[in-house]
Amino acid sequence: MALTDPSKRLEAIPPYMFAELERKVADKRDAGIDVISLGIGDPDMPTYDHVVAAMQGAVAENGNQKYPSNRGRAEFREAFAAFYGRRFGVEIDPETEVIPAIGAKECIYNLCFAFLDPGDVALASDPGYPVYTGGPVLAGADVEVLPLVPELGFAPDLDAIGPDALRRARLLFLNYPNNPTGAIAPDGLFERVVELAREHEILIVHDNAYSETTYDGYVAPSFLQTPGAKEVGVEVFSLSKGYNMTGWRCAAILGNADAIQTYWRLKTNVDSGLFEAVQLAGAAALEGPSEPLAEMNAIYTRRRDLVVDALREIGVEVASPKGTIYVWAPVPDGHTSTSFCEHVLEQAAVVISPGSMYGPSGEGFFRISLTTPDERLTEAVERLREHLS
Ligand SMILES: *Cc1c(COP(=O)(O)O)cnc(C)c1O
Repeated sequence: MALTDPSKRLEAIPPYMFAELERKVADKRDAGIDVISLGIGDPDMPTYDHVVAAMQGAVAENGNQKYPSNRGRAEFREAFAAFYGRRFGVEIDPETEVIPAIGAKECIYNLCFAFLDPGDVALASDPGYPVYTGGPVLAGADVEVLPLVPELGFAPDLDAIGPDALRRARLLFLNYPNNPTGAIAPDGLFERVVELAREHEILIVHDNAYSETTYDGYVAPSFLQTPGAKEVGVEVFSLSKGYNMTGWRCAAILGNADAIQTYWRLKTNVDSGLFEAVQLAGAAALEGPSEPLAEMNAIYTRRRDLVVDALREIGVEVASPKGTIYVWAPVPDGHTSTSFCEHVLEQAAVVISPGSMYGPSGEGFFRISLTTPDERLTEAVERLREHLS
């Protein structure tokens, strides 16, 4: 064992396989080639004015510089409870059913440490957000991937989960509107998940990063709207994407009070809470006008149409997503996810993400993010038309 060897758990995380693609991007840029990246999902537009103003006030206020409480400010918990009531018709007790998280990523990771032991299983949507698999592995537990089936509207086939996995499963990670597939929650899925959770005593973790980022009149539900959901699950609501706040690290966990209590207990050992100025800004975001969100969604709708039209023109059969900031499409025949993304980079100097980055079931797909400013996205789409037709 050498001085700097990583732990076995860290070693067990699948290696990052896209270093090669990143090296090619860096080489091109070094050679002076204007590479446009449609890879990362990180909103390019500013945080809304009323949120910035609230932060500016809160940051200057004496008291907010102190260690925050891990339970969160009353203003934050009450703003979330009111928002869930108004927006989803879900009743949340601000005392026991919501606490802040330092982003959804922290929350999902720490839920693994709060609920998983070696020998336990986490069921993880595949393709999915990488922490659904990395978190359990770092906690010393096992992962059973639930392939999202295109024919089922990118729902997992719950009947296909093996008996051993069901017996050992303690957590199930779901996410709709879905990253990376852009799918919305198929009818009846949440109800079936609640039944499964009851039958096998599995805590459901619904990662809600995109309910406010939807198009064509679609209004996304909260998992907690499902009858019985609060008895078996929690929802992680992140302000990162919908409110253009990825850098702020502002999210909350809502739902089952006992599960939240356990997560809190873990967190008191790990971090010292969410900066209270950020909590107050988060409250302002939820209480503020909805017009900025509508304007943002209009921008994404325009960008989505630009991308979908161009892909269809070059012969890619793509569904137009009703939510999220991603377009998910099959790679042309004869390509793997990675070979197609390398081809696009070579031909068009445009970076797109291989679907296999998000898990084995992502193989055969690629993802385009809509978080690039309009002129650059237009330029990227022109290049795809020109070089890939
Ligand atoms: C972006 C994203 C997150 C990250 O949220 P943070 O609050 O910024 O940590 C979590 N889950 C999904 C599905 C995402 O796409």
